[in-house]
Amino acid sequence: MSSYSKERRVAELAVERACKLTQAVAESSANGEVTKDDASPVTVADFGAQAVVIGAINHNFAADPVVGEEDSAILREKPELKARVWGLAQAAAAETAGSTAEIGELASADHMLEMLDLGMFEGGRVPRMWALDPVDGTKGFLRREQYAVCLALLVDSEVVVGVIGCPNLPVDPTGATPGKGMLFSAVKGQGAFARPLDAADADFVRIRMNDIPDAAAASFCESVEAGHSSHGQQARIAALLGITKPSVRMDSQAKYASIARGDGDIYLRLPVSATYQEKIWDHAAGNVLVAEAGGIVSDMHGNPLDFSLGRTLRNNKGIVAAAAGIQPSVVAAVQKVLAEDA
Ligand code: AMP
Ligand code: MG
Repeated sequence: MSSYSKERRVAELAVERACKLTQAVAESSANGEVTKDDASPVTVADFGAQAVVIGAINHNFAADPVVGEEDSAILREKPELKARVWGLAQAAAAETAGSTAEIGELASADHMLEMLDLGMFEGGRVPRMWALDPVDGTKGFLRREQYAVCLALLVDSEVVVGVIGCPNLPVDPTGATPGKGMLFSAVKGQGAFARPLDAADADFVRIRMNDIPDAAAASFCESVEAGHSSHGQQARIAALLGITKPSVRMDSQAKYASIARGDGDIYLRLPVSATYQEKIWDHAAGNVLVAEAGGIVSDMHGNPLDFSLGRTLRNNKGIVAAAAGIQPSVVAAVQKVLAEDA
């Protein structure tokens, strides 16, 4: 087996199963019952997806620690919520029964809680660990727009495998062919790939970022939420680069996936809060996906992201991801706007 091929395969199957679970939650609450209190569908989706993915990792790589966003505390307090999540986990396993020989399945509701809590690892400088965002882009999930199940393997604090499931991303970005749901996958040094989420038998196809000569021709994407990144500064950076196309706003690491396959060219994320620390699970999988598609990801100062410091990227501020040919000029424009505002 080539290097990390088993890790990649397990991650793909795990993310695919977790996407089935989140899709079931979205469909079952079609009446609009989507809030964000404890017992809401969105938290149900978070817990279920995390347990399913960690179960698959643990089945294959029992010694590997996992940094995951969620834990089981609420489910232990609320038996009816635990039962609901367990029902979802069983249904997702049944729907992806063909994967069970490779990724196993959760044995019981208590096993599910145990797997969920394996995500409480503190991170840091370790030989191997996984980073998991079970539902990235909660706000997008609630709006029935973009969200993503994101899983990465880090070896010596570098991302070597990244898998992103985007259940609501169009299969064909031009819209010519209908259908939504994409699975993205990358291994360091081996390229970036994608296939439709619902086509488990389809081959992965290699994806590349657009090779644009000049940032002025780029289209850029950013968060929907103004509280997550500075729309005002990002618009000024775009203007400085001569970009005329309006920004494409979407939630979650679907932004990394979109630029990796050339739907857009630049992902900008400038901080709105001086104290907020980006979480490793919000960037790990996207980092290797963009790098392997021909891009560079740095913080707003042009420094690489440092995943060795625990659950957050406390040494980095902001994100600038773009094709390698233009990324330095984007960082330069970011620096200019930051200097104007200093
Ligand atoms: P996005 O969908 O790209 O806007 O990013 C969603 C992620 O933003 C969530 O997973 C949160 O972890 C993260 N987030 C929450 N608060 C902030 C904040 N103040 N600044 C930046 N990111 C945030
Ligand atoms: Mg997230």
